[in-house]
Amino acid sequence: MENRWRDADAAAFAGDLLQLRVYTSRLLGQDPDLVLHGGGNTSVKITQKNFFRESESLLYVKGSGWDLGSIEAAGFPAVKMDVLLKMAQLDHLSDTDMVRLQRTAMIDPGAPNPSVEAILHALIPFTFVDHTHADAVVTLSNTPKGEELLRELYGPRMLIFPYVMPGFILAKDVYQRTQNIDWSAYDGIILLHHGVFTFADEAKASYARMIEIVAKAEAYIEAQGASCSPGASIETLTAEQDLLTLAAIRRRVSQLQGRASLCRLSQSPLSLLFSRQKNLQQIATQGPLTPDHVIRTKRIPAILGEDPVAAIDEYAEEYQRYFDNNKTDGLTCLNPAPCWAVWPGIGSLKFGGGVKELGIIDDINQHSMKSILQAEKLGGWRALPEKDIFELEYWELEQAKLKKGAAAAALQGKVALVTGAASGIGKACVESLIAEGAVVAALDIDPAIETQFDSTSVMGLRCDVTDRSSLHAALRSLITHFGGLDILVSNAGAFPLSAGIEDIEDANWDKSMAINLSSHQRVLSSCIPYLKQGVDPAVIFIASKNVPAPGVGASTYSVAKAGMTQLARIAALELAAEGIRVNTLHPDAVFDTAIWTDEVLEKRARHYGLSVAEYKTRNLLKTEIRSSDVAALVCALAGPLFAKTTGAQIPIDGGNDRVI
Ligand code: ZN
Repeated sequence: MENRWRDADAAAFAGDLLQLRVYTSRLLGQDPDLVLHGGGNTSVKITQKNFFRESESLLYVKGSGWDLGSIEAAGFPAVKMDVLLKMAQLDHLSDTDMVRLQRTAMIDPGAPNPSVEAILHALIPFTFVDHTHADAVVTLSNTPKGEELLRELYGPRMLIFPYVMPGFILAKDVYQRTQNIDWSAYDGIILLHHGVFTFADEAKASYARMIEIVAKAEAYIEAQGASCSPGASIETLTAEQDLLTLAAIRRRVSQLQGRASLCRLSQSPLSLLFSRQKNLQQIATQGPLTPDHVIRTKRIPAILGEDPVAAIDEYAEEYQRYFDNNKTDGLTCLNPAPCWAVWPGIGSLKFGGGVKELGIIDDINQHSMKSILQAEKLGGWRALPEKDIFELEYWELEQAKLKKGAAAAALQGKVALVTGAASGIGKACVESLIAEGAVVAALDIDPAIETQFDSTSVMGLRCDVTDRSSLHAALRSLITHFGGLDILVSNAGAFPLSAGIEDIEDANWDKSMAINLSSHQRVLSSCIPYLKQGVDPAVIFIASKNVPAPGVGASTYSVAKAGMTQLARIAALELAAEGIRVNTLHPDAVFDTAIWTDEVLEKRARHYGLSVAEYKTRNLLKTEIRSSDVAALVCALAGPLFAKTTGAQIPIDGGNDRVI
């Protein structure tokens, strides 16, 4: 545990208490062994003049929705101290009322909600108060002799309180325990199974105490030989059967969650080490590192056995039992699916609606697995009883958030694969799909695809779609990274030279067939096993207006596209029983693609005696068709709007009398 305070950096904020608070909060937030994703909170007490020139004592405390690592002054709503202290004296207060009362005591009604620990911060009579869920301290607490051990380690200058539900009950408990104490006799408070508070009148001192306390716990763990240092072994899932199992697990979790969910396999050295523990079932199903992780990860992971999908079902049944055993009136049961799973000998899996959620769950998992393995070497991992965890999971403030439930994007949690994704319609499809909430494997033969999309929702994969082994490698990356496949946009194509039939060179003909026809059969057949495990799976072929309305000199292109259309029609017949929809788009005159340079456009327009604008809108509706228009229709075809349509061919050409 490193003390990151630098006098030279802090000097810039000298005398500005709030800016110093921002500075040390960020120092805490930079260390994931101290706080993770919105965990922990900090405050500073400042006396200042209000509008009426009256002196007012305020608590600036971390607002909800902010992360300590990136917090700014605006992330600290100011709450009147006298109101907070009065609240601590109430006998009962629901957390909903607590939040409401705190809001009425804020000086800026537009600021975020203060942390639920605001009253506790107010009670501690020092200018700066720092609170973290430090791994090392909580790990020691989560062992059979945790409390004894902590008392021995920290001596009489540490207050050690038993676990109490965060929020008003905790504030009230600390209020009662500290009414007659001499605060100067203490350096900090450890809340068992929860975290650490430090305090001082100087920002530097409060922060330094936190670092010292945590460093001491880390040193103890190391001295006991309980540090966790997994090897460097990395395995990758390669067998097709395992990849299909992964997709089947993801589908079952999605069904139980009632939404499409991503699934990511982690084979980090720690995940592998953890997944190989002989007593995995016993150590992994005790409970979380610290109770507030339950909101992200649920109480325990699923442990996958011989039949991983059946294990997910058993988890759901067990979750229902947990809810029924602990529920109180008016509670709504959350979906019973696991948020993460351990696959013995293979690694860990996490499930989430988006890439950000996967990252948060994975960070929490990695810290939890490390702590569990350490605690096992210190006598055993002991988490809080399930009742305490349930209380937090079903906290009224969390249930209220649930009821508000923001509407998810139409394709949230869906996994798509787009071929020919580096430019034109393919690129537009990638952009539209991620805007609608999907994640995408963007395939192209151009190596630039690997770095082209600056989004964690896109995997750029170099792939030759005419080559099966190249396709299988891309699918392997996709499945381990996102867990499955729901949407295939078969778009890769090339525009060959136009020539009359008697003048066509065989090589050009063969090349067009390879890319514009055969590759689509290879892509589709390689994807079918995964699409069968998809969530509301859909395939969209990008064909051409040339299919219903062919033109002279274009047989090399049109015949391949007609073959592709026939492939799509037969696929619609063959795959309907699996619930896979297959539809075809016939775009025309999409000019914002790489082949249509300004020069080419002008030349073509001149050829017809038209201006470029007239040439671009040569259709019945006199409208220009852009790549993004085609992409929007692709998204619609992949979504619920077309849930009952398969085998269709839809023109997107502004209206063409030959097609009509
Ligand atoms: Zn806390």
